[in-house]
Amino acid sequence: MDICIIGAGYVGLTTAAVLADIGHTVFCTDRDEAKIDQLKQGVIPVYEPGLSAMLLRNMESGKLIFDTSVSAYISQCPILMIAVGTPPSKDGSADLSAIYSVIRNIADMIRSPKTIVIKSTVPPGTADQIKQWLLAHSVSPDLFHIVSNPEFLREGTAIYDTLHPDRIVIGAVEQSAALQVKELYKTITTTFLLTTNREAELIKYASNAFLAVKVSFINEISKVCEAFNADITRVAEGIGLDKRIGPQFLQAGLGYGGSCLPKDVDALIHAAESKQLKMRMLNAAKKINRSQLSLYVNKLKSKLGECSHNQRIAVWGATFKENTDDIRASQAIALMKKLTKLGYHVYAYDPLAHPSLPSVIWCESAYEAVEQSDALIVATCWPEFMEADWLTVKQAMRRPVIVDARNRLDRAMLQSLGFEYTGIGRPEST
Ligand code: NAD
Repeated sequence: MDICIIGAGYVGLTTAAVLADIGHTVFCTDRDEAKIDQLKQGVIPVYEPGLSAMLLRNMESGKLIFDTSVSAYISQCPILMIAVGTPPSKDGSADLSAIYSVIRNIADMIRSPKTIVIKSTVPPGTADQIKQWLLAHSVSPDLFHIVSNPEFLREGTAIYDTLHPDRIVIGAVEQSAALQVKELYKTITTTFLLTTNREAELIKYASNAFLAVKVSFINEISKVCEAFNADITRVAEGIGLDKRIGPQFLQAGLGYGGSCLPKDVDALIHAAESKQLKMRMLNAAKKINRSQLSLYVNKLKSKLGECSHNQRIAVWGATFKENTDDIRASQAIALMKKLTKLGYHVYAYDPLAHPSLPSVIWCESAYEAVEQSDALIVATCWPEFMEADWLTVKQAMRRPVIVDARNRLDRAMLQSLGFEYTGIGRPEST
């Protein structure tokens, strides 16, 4: 099949690579001309393990073509897949301006029947509103079907997730359009769930909202563990062994971040409020997530005393999690901002990201960042942090205080080396 993918970000590029690999001819466009120019030259603008090789392989075989000329592709392809961003607006609602800008383009160019697939995350009712919009702009109902096909990939494992999804959700009014989209994924073995558009849209939001609640839940339980001198890592392991619960997203720590969970929670709250519904549990999850930052600042203070202006803090990790270059809504960055505001000198290191932040000094290596530091905060679990040479780290530090903001370091080993270790929800000593 010939598919046009509009939006060449993490989702658009991964989907383009996988669909081309399956054997479709994929035309991928973006309004960002510089990005498309880079892609045409084989330069991949985002970091995602395995993505570059898969894109290049399919570009070479002619199955994947990048261009800015969206109009030509719209006329040529029967399937138009929208993967543009839906960032948060100031009021928490999803900003759908990029989606509607693509829809306007489609309305101008449409001459033959199209299946418009919405891969971007959009609030319930969006597909129906787009349909009404197209009809109101004199596009014949015979010329389009709208299919909601939300994406569930995780950055860092995007290719694997797209090839091995837990499910593929396809929401549509017309079964023929749903089956056409199902056919796109013909080589993928998984559960295909055919739903209405609104159900598909809600499955995506509710999934992310559930994950956010799960993270905030375990962070809340970690406080109880701390109060009762129990170790949250063992408690979480015990909880997660229950098949009804499962072990994922049960790691207590700095809280959830990234380009999806925070904004999708906000957008769901906003969508519910538009129907006079209060999302009390989601609001609580948000509140807990925000409070995690202060919790870690307090942990730092309990080790170092009140902030004084010569305290130097090393922070390892800036991206919202390991194996990605994405810093959108990163809790690590939020923590750095909070620390500098309080007057700490922050020396940071991340293998991929070093955004300009007031008063944060970026270092060339993890070891440079810890030199003469009074404490090290490990904010992201990059493998190079987990496998650090801790003796070298200790020798470089002024004071061997480690704040393990993801509860992933080997506490016993660090304590045996003489570090003052502090995690969350864990007794000070084993
Ligand atoms: P992104 O910001 O990485 O990429 C979006 C791309 O769309 C950008 O390259 C941008 O230039 C392009 N774009 C914006 N407006 C455009 C227009 N009018 N015409 C053409 N291109 C346009 O975003 P992303 O992370 O890939 O997310 C895309 C969608 O998928 C969002 O709705 C997001 O919520 C959802 N999603 C993201 C993830 C994830 O992990 N990143 C996972 C699941 C779902």
